[in-house]
Amino acid sequence: MQTRTPSTVIVVGSGIVGAGTAYFLAKRGVAVQLLDAAAPAAEATGAADGAVSVASKRPGPMMQAALAGVALYRELAQAGLFADIFKTRSTFIIASSNEECTVLTSHADALAGAGVRVERLGAAMLRERFPALSSNAMMAVEVHDEGHAIGYQIVHRLLTASGTLVSRRTPVEGLVTAPDGRRIVAIATPQGNIHADAVVIAAGNGSGKLLGLEQILTPRKGQLLITERAPALNAAMAGSIMSGRYLLSKGSQPAGNGKPARGLGLVIDPLSTGQFLIGGTREDHGDRRTNDIDAVSHILADAVALVPELAGVRLLRSFAGVRTAVADSLPLIGRVPGLENAYVATGFEGDGICLGPITGKVMSELVCGESPCIDIAPFDPARFPRLGVAA
Ligand SMILES: Cc1cc2nc3c(=O)[nH]c(=O)nc-3n(C[C@H](O)[C@H](O)[C@H](O)COP(=O)(O)OP(=O)(O)OC[C@H]3O[C@@H](n4cnc5c(N)ncnc54)[C@H](O)[C@@H]3O)c2cc1C
Repeated sequence: MQTRTPSTVIVVGSGIVGAGTAYFLAKRGVAVQLLDAAAPAAEATGAADGAVSVASKRPGPMMQAALAGVALYRELAQAGLFADIFKTRSTFIIASSNEECTVLTSHADALAGAGVRVERLGAAMLRERFPALSSNAMMAVEVHDEGHAIGYQIVHRLLTASGTLVSRRTPVEGLVTAPDGRRIVAIATPQGNIHADAVVIAAGNGSGKLLGLEQILTPRKGQLLITERAPALNAAMAGSIMSGRYLLSKGSQPAGNGKPARGLGLVIDPLSTGQFLIGGTREDHGDRRTNDIDAVSHILADAVALVPELAGVRLLRSFAGVRTAVADSLPLIGRVPGLENAYVATGFEGDGICLGPITGKVMSELVCGESPCIDIAPFDPARFPRLGVAA
């Protein structure tokens, strides 16, 4: 175990988790080298929705971690760091079928039990609060004190505020261990080996190859849509909308009749630009370069069914990103088993924008030999016995 603050730390990956780690380490005076195979926010972080939200989290450790994650966003917004890039708003989870009402009721109980401020809205109340919604909406749960942030803006802010420069186009190809195999002495890149006192792997889907985790991590594609500006409709939306089916697609609640086809679950986020961000799919492969008309038309049809006025709003573009999913649906946060000075933070699936900054804080605490500010025992990488440095 690392027993003192290291002087130098290499962070592999400049998504939101790597950038958050670099920020909190730099604040402690640690010299950080942040390396990326491509560029900051080049992968999931740059192609995400951006809900900073407890609403869709699975009850248990993920819900608890998300509460801390949202609280940290609020704190950093108040401190000025995220002031103009963290939009606060409620999330409305909407049920449009009896099955969704059942799921939503138990999810609302779980949220309330975790200390989240929730309000149940029956059909009439919902119509009053949210006139843009179709009459298909049977009930809703308003989850208060949530927010939205664009991943690449958060990364940019963390890097500039900490003065961290990213070594771009520097793929880490392997980890070099000491002869006894208990420490990392360097990381291997095409430009040569780089040495540091400790290493943090925050390489999203790239972490699998570095740590021999290919069987545990799955790339999970998501397709998203952005509309043109529609200021009046946008202003009439009291918060973001999440379909009850989204909870099933994400596995936040058990799906009675199986998961929705293509993992379709609807989220409509009114952005501060006046546009709408609409998603999305969950597809277990990693090709982020393509969108397909089947997914796009299904997402649009679902969105218009819930907010009919969206039919008059033009679609500007579609894009896709690839989440990193873990076999047991919990992220990996902690020390790499068997290695004194190597740490990993990956596998955040659809929750890494919310959890990125708090994870960065936790990683800085771990690397400096302190107890983490949240309970990360459920996320301990050691739960996968095969985890270790790839040969
Ligand atoms: C469609 C979609 C919607 C989403 N919506 C939300 C949401 O609403 N709310 C939410 O909280 N989360 C959301 N997410 C999830 C969130 O985007 C991710 O969980 C988060 O961005 C993961 O951040 P990361 O830093 O772990 O990984 P990434 O952002 O994937 O960053 C990893 C970085 O590591 C680099 N890298 C990889 N391999 C190597 C290597 N060998 N050497 C050097 N560098 C390497 C990559 O180039 C990349 O820049 C969404 C994701 C997607 C795709």
